[in-house]
Amino acid sequence: MDISALQEIVKQRYFKTDNERGIYHTALWFHEEVGELSSAIASGDKENAKEEFADVLMWLMTLANLMDVNMEEAVAAYLNNPRKLPTK
Ligand SMILES: [Mg+2]
Repeated sequence: MDISALQEIVKQRYFKTDNERGIYHTALWFHEEVGELSSAIASGDKENAKEEFADVLMWLMTLANLMDVNMEEAVAAYLNNPRKLPTK
């Protein structure tokens, strides 16, 4: 699945609810999921971490949808930005 396809699925499934909630409160949900991912990583529970990685990605996509950001384009711009290359 490519990034655009995933973003579209998230949009179709969650945009109405997330838009009604508003971006501020949706961002709080995203942060909660980042915390859950951090806890899963810290605990070493790989199965739980797998679920939390997906949660974080879905909430990230929904935030991008609320801000009308095309993540396919954003990721391409990131990967083509020489300032984003690893430092020595
Ligand atoms: Mg979670």
